[in-house]
Amino acid sequence: MKKTMTKDTMLAHLGRKVATENRIINTPVFHASTITHKTLESWENRNRDLYKDMAYGRYGTPTSFALQEAMAEIEGGDRALLYPSGMAAIAASILAFVNAGDHILVCDVVYAPTRKYCDGVLTKLGVETTYFAPGIGAGIAELIRPNTKLVYVESPGTHTFEIQDIPAIAEAAHKAGCVVLHDNTWATPLYFDSFNKGVDVSIHAATKYVVGHSDAMLGIVVTKNEHFAPLSAVTSAMGYCVAPDDAYLGLRGLRTMSVRLKQHHKNGLAVAEWLEKRPEVSRVLHPALPGNPHHALWKRDFTGASGLFGVVLKDVPKPALAAMIEGLELFSIGASWGGYESLVTTCYPPRTVEAWNPEGPLLRLHIGLEDPADIIADLEAGFERMNKLKAAA
Ligand SMILES: *Cc1c(COP(=O)(O)O)cnc(C)c1O
Repeated sequence: MKKTMTKDTMLAHLGRKVATENRIINTPVFHASTITHKTLESWENRNRDLYKDMAYGRYGTPTSFALQEAMAEIEGGDRALLYPSGMAAIAASILAFVNAGDHILVCDVVYAPTRKYCDGVLTKLGVETTYFAPGIGAGIAELIRPNTKLVYVESPGTHTFEIQDIPAIAEAAHKAGCVVLHDNTWATPLYFDSFNKGVDVSIHAATKYVVGHSDAMLGIVVTKNEHFAPLSAVTSAMGYCVAPDDAYLGLRGLRTMSVRLKQHHKNGLAVAEWLEKRPEVSRVLHPALPGNPHHALWKRDFTGASGLFGVVLKDVPKPALAAMIEGLELFSIGASWGGYESLVTTCYPPRTVEAWNPEGPLLRLHIGLEDPADIIADLEAGFERMNKLKAAA
């Protein structure tokens, strides 16, 4: 049965063992610090597999175990661990594979707080980071030094949405004995098959599409067995843990992730295609658009797109831009994404390898589950406000 289950079926059925045993549908929220033991033998052997057996509340309860099992299986990994945020998941994953004196390679288009972690915390610990251009591919081999331990990719890149050739990067990295980490938040396990593309450690800001309703912070890391021990050692030593209510929200979100993503993909693409034709727009940064420079790689490696993409406007005075954005009725201005609602932000991505000099303001749009015709009408009215102010200026 298991072998033939598609991911849609897995989403509905995985992580429900404890619920089924109790003749209900959803795994309950188990609040616990102390886990009790009936025998001394059980007590003295409690630390065998901290994140699977019931050891102590910090290592999780059946609620978190259910989410871990479901995520690991959906992504095709062996194990998963939960973190209090996506950023915590990133911090733990990198720390797990480096020692003082090591060197790591990180894509230049990485999530900005990850860059801050590398430049700040890792520098302090004596770990050096070199950033690489998103288009590097097999050329990454030239940047690998004898002390390079890890290659970190994030595809598509934060704010600018470049697709990286992960299979080529991973092949070169593995030849040199490096571990490959990937921030798979944008595609989720449904649209990018990390472990079949050469990734060793797949990281998710589950705050986004897994939770899916903008109401919890959560990180999830999925690994194969061979990379689990260093990760769980760091996770346990740093005291990371997730409240069972948030793990429950992660499980709850997972059940509908596939239907939500299909709609985000469809709506996002419809809005992106409309934006491409607007005279106010210089470029739309969406890899699923056929004219996008990253489209071929996206099509080769991904099976879908999310609702998040960028749009570079032609140069426009700030007050006209503010009038456009502030008057939108269906979009809120705000960080994070992956919920059912539409969001817009301006972005100023830090880049140190290839300069980022856009023709005008860069907006990041998250297209929610609203009717795309309504979203387009909202944006159209926004452009009208913008043009009116621009003409008056
Ligand atoms: C939001 C985000 C994160 C961080 O997740 P949090 O749960 O907000 O800490 C990491 N990577 C990417 C690509 C993100 O968009």
